[in-house]
Amino acid sequence: MRHSAAHVMAEAVLALFPEAKFGIGPAIEDGFYYDFDLPRPLTPEDLPVIEAKMREIVKADLPFTHREITKAEARKLFAGQPYKLELLEEIPDEKVGVYEQGGFTDLCRGPHLASTGQIKAFRLVNTAGAYWRGSERNNMLQRIYGLAFENEKELEAHLALVEEAKRRDHRRLGKELDLFLTPEEIGGGLVIYTPKGGRIRTTIEDFWRQEHFANGYELLYTPHIGLSKLWEVSGHLDHYKENMYAPITIDEQEYYLKPMNCPFHMLAYKSRTRSYRDLPLRWAELGTVYRYERSGVLLGLMRVRGFTQDDAHIICTPEQMNDEIAEVLRFSLYMLKTFGFAKYKVYLSTRPADSIGEESRWEDAQAALHRVIEASGLPFEVDEGGGAFYGPKIDIKIEDALGREWQATTIQFDFTLPERFDMTYIGPDGREHRPYMIHRALLGAWERFFGLLIEHYAGAFPVWLAPVQVKVIPVADRHNDHAAKISAEMKKHGVRAEVDDRSERMNQKIRQAQLEKIPYMVIVGDKEIEGNSVSVRCRSGEQLPAMPLAEFIERITKEIADKSLG
Ligand SMILES: [Zn+2]
Ligand SMILES: [Zn+2]
Repeated sequence: MRHSAAHVMAEAVLALFPEAKFGIGPAIEDGFYYDFDLPRPLTPEDLPVIEAKMREIVKADLPFTHREITKAEARKLFAGQPYKLELLEEIPDEKVGVYEQGGFTDLCRGPHLASTGQIKAFRLVNTAGAYWRGSERNNMLQRIYGLAFENEKELEAHLALVEEAKRRDHRRLGKELDLFLTPEEIGGGLVIYTPKGGRIRTTIEDFWRQEHFANGYELLYTPHIGLSKLWEVSGHLDHYKENMYAPITIDEQEYYLKPMNCPFHMLAYKSRTRSYRDLPLRWAELGTVYRYERSGVLLGLMRVRGFTQDDAHIICTPEQMNDEIAEVLRFSLYMLKTFGFAKYKVYLSTRPADSIGEESRWEDAQAALHRVIEASGLPFEVDEGGGAFYGPKIDIKIEDALGREWQATTIQFDFTLPERFDMTYIGPDGREHRPYMIHRALLGAWERFFGLLIEHYAGAFPVWLAPVQVKVIPVADRHNDHAAKISAEMKKHGVRAEVDDRSERMNQKIRQAQLEKIPYMVIVGDKEIEGNSVSVRCRSGEQLPAMPLAEFIERITKEIADKSLG
């Protein structure tokens, strides 16, 4: 139906622009598009006109008819359609398929609906420039995007979801709530955390470090650059160079910005003789890495060039492998749950045809991953042959408040680095053995995870993450001193409080705190000072009964400690 709608749109465009040249018009998720070469740029006002024409075509219920014709016939049929002719020459078969409805004929394999009347609910949504065949050397065409659904209700629901996603867009909220910047002056894909974003990041990192220490990890810190030799040994210059930036020359030697932290951790392992008694080692790092991304794909915090990973390497014996994976999976789910994600799906990717490493190692590792996922009871899918060439992995995807799936945790075996760095440990038999090595990132890249949290919570962070947890609002200027005292008392207890002592009306201050999505507002006026109490208003609009300050502090510090949503 979506693809048929694209043909109908093309017919409508042809009726309005008889000189139109046609590119391609596939179905996509939720809808369709078609690329046109038109005599003038489209404006938003054109869409309703094209849509109205489409409705006429749908109402006329024209049949889609299919014919097989020879290439020679097709060349004649599509004379004056250079893009179609180009596609035609690439089809190896003698005969090609064409579909016709009304006055429009397209080169197409189909299939299509029987007639245009079967197209249900549709809407044209926007236009965009698109290079012919995606290459900047070709002409820029005009692409029109449309949505198509089984019925009006589904279409409306989808449009509402798109609206909600716009409302939650982390780039918009990042600006409104003053959380982060991506200034053009520093270059694409590079992020500055403002004080409020910095508060959130610090809160996440403090929690992350505390949990890692509690779960048997040690923390490493490693440099941002390393000699070219290091990246040769690690294999990055052979397999990952297109993601790395040009080298920096220092004292006639070349250094590369790190795209990953692994080689540094491998060197730390190699710095001394390791015994089976030292294993497992769980080494984590909040490592800032730099990877090349094309400028066209950069997107707010979601796709950046410099980012910090919550990286770790687990080095263990074959006997420990099973427990280690089970533990890292449990730990991942615990962390994700703390951030308010309740739905997960696990993907297991197994050995691809082109891979390295001993067969038995692959089998053991895959069996261990499989066992652990099954024991977890989580829904999972197996991507046969979808693993990296150096080892199998599991990915955990989380579902956000809008039901969108996001990649979070990766638990990845690596059979190359232990070989390349010749990592060994002395076993109980007194001989050298090769350890297993697992890379893992729980939350992924800080930047991306932050973007995800902003959208998941629509900027209304839970109390423990909120950059400002309480706004103290004096009713009049004469209450400012008392408000400052209350704020200081809360800060003493670790609560992030702030006084709004501007000479504004109280309602204006409440409105402002509401816009900043601050979890609690504490109102201070004559009545509160006299009664030695505070009036508390929640972000939800709920009014709590007046209570002594100490009681409110007890309540909020408990919420912060519990990491509850507030
Ligand atoms: Zn078609
Ligand atoms: Zn790694």
